[in-house]
Amino acid sequence: MKGRRVPLKNNNTKSGKRKKRKKIVLKKRFFIILFLLFCLIAGSIFAFTRHQKQERIIHAAIDKADQAAVQYDYDRAMSLLKEYGDHKDVQKKLDEYSEKKSDTRKISPGSVTHVFFHSLVVDPTRGFSLTGKSGWDAGTPGFCQWMTTVNEFNAILEEMYDRGYVLVDIKDLCDKDMNPGTIRLPKSKKAFVLSLDDLSYYHSYDNRGTASKLILNNKNKPVCEYYTKEGTRKTGAYDAVPLLDRFIREHPDFSYHGAKGTIALTGYNGVLGYRTDTTYRDETSLDEDQKKWLEAHPDFDWEKECKEARKVAKALKKDGWRFASHTWGHIRAGQTPLEGLQRDTEKWKERVEPIVGKTDIIIFAHGEDIALPEVYATSDKFKYLSSEGYRYFCNVDGRRLTTVIGDSYFHQGRRNLDGYRMYQAKYNGSSMLDDLFDVNEVWDKNRPSNEELYDLSGKSQKSTTGTQSQTSSDTKNQSSSGSSSSDNKSQSSSGSSSSDSKSQSSSGSSSSDSKSQSSSGSSSSDSKSQSSSGSSSSDTAKSSSAT
Ligand SMILES: [Zn+2]
Repeated sequence: MKGRRVPLKNNNTKSGKRKKRKKIVLKKRFFIILFLLFCLIAGSIFAFTRHQKQERIIHAAIDKADQAAVQYDYDRAMSLLKEYGDHKDVQKKLDEYSEKKSDTRKISPGSVTHVFFHSLVVDPTRGFSLTGKSGWDAGTPGFCQWMTTVNEFNAILEEMYDRGYVLVDIKDLCDKDMNPGTIRLPKSKKAFVLSLDDLSYYHSYDNRGTASKLILNNKNKPVCEYYTKEGTRKTGAYDAVPLLDRFIREHPDFSYHGAKGTIALTGYNGVLGYRTDTTYRDETSLDEDQKKWLEAHPDFDWEKECKEARKVAKALKKDGWRFASHTWGHIRAGQTPLEGLQRDTEKWKERVEPIVGKTDIIIFAHGEDIALPEVYATSDKFKYLSSEGYRYFCNVDGRRLTTVIGDSYFHQGRRNLDGYRMYQAKYNGSSMLDDLFDVNEVWDKNRPSNEELYDLSGKSQKSTTGTQSQTSSDTKNQSSSGSSSSDNKSQSSSGSSSSDSKSQSSSGSSSSDSKSQSSSGSSSSDSKSQSSSGSSSSDTAKSSSAT
């Protein structure tokens, strides 16, 4: 029994071991298959994820390229997609950009018009106040003539957009070495330059239904602070900067390469609504408005004020806005002696430049230029401003095309899109705005149309109080300006003769200009418009004289 049992046991052990080995082999195979399967799935997932990620990267690049292309920067759009050239969507896009680029034409700087606005009136009942002994108050005529309302501004943008206008940067027209720019736009589009004057929110604007300062929202974007009639503080798009920013966000093809406007700043009441001038710090030679303001703000901290203003200025520049000098004291650069211009320029550099940075653009206050075009480059004032780094010079000129590129300077007249100009178009048959918009489509129904309020002789102003709602330095400037004859002279000459012929020869597009003039002489109502358009530049100078 014993001997028989052993082999049986051995046999059992052997088959058990075989079974065990087989089991192990099977298990091993199973795990290998499982491992391979896992690798396959993981590999597929990895490849799929990688592909998805790559697709996301490519489509994000396409989105970015589209944003550049919609603002006519086809070269940048194509360079953004260069490394993904094998992708079929990218190929389609590259073809699209290339086709659009070939459909553009070069824009001559001489064919570009330049328009400007002041701070916008949010509440016409306060801005154009019709209360007071004479039917309105002292500030009403000035606000009627120089200001545009928020509704009018929005309507003007819409009309200009519909007519194919595209906003370009002044420096896109000409670089600092005076080489003409290389703007290219689709054949159906027209370029224009925009500037904003006096964005300081002067004390004289208080309680006139305009914004009171520019501030930054939680996305670091410029918006306005605005006080309602009841004194409620609001923030939002209550002036040209955030309104234009918003319009371009909604209509990106309104801006060439992301261009915005140029903000022309004085310094005597600070900048952008911040009381940054050293007068407020030192409390020396304060005028009544400044005294009142400091009394109302006992916690005023000048350093903090400057810091805030610098932050806003930085954000504006980041968003594509530029700054220009508008002279520190809103002086008449033509009438002020050279020494006065030098003192004023030094003040701008000491008090405004630390806030907004250096600029080589000067936009003359009152629209008043420094010299006649034929002696521009040889005048002492030009030589001085040039030595101070200024290269871009702008006055006010109602005509459409006024660009001049000299050997060492760029010069452009600007068109006031304000109440005065709109009144002339609506009631006196002026055709000076016809290329930009239909005044009947944009005129704010809350804007008064009393003729006296748009009378440039200043009778309406004098009959009310005799003081413009201006700060003392401004009033001083105005009273020192005396008669407007020299003003007219400097204005009309600055935009005519040689500058004209030069700009026209460079643009070859004087026809629209001469058309606007000649067409205005054909009927009785037209002859009125001709006289107004004939004296456009001097009118403009006067109409913009206070702000
Ligand atoms: Zn001004």
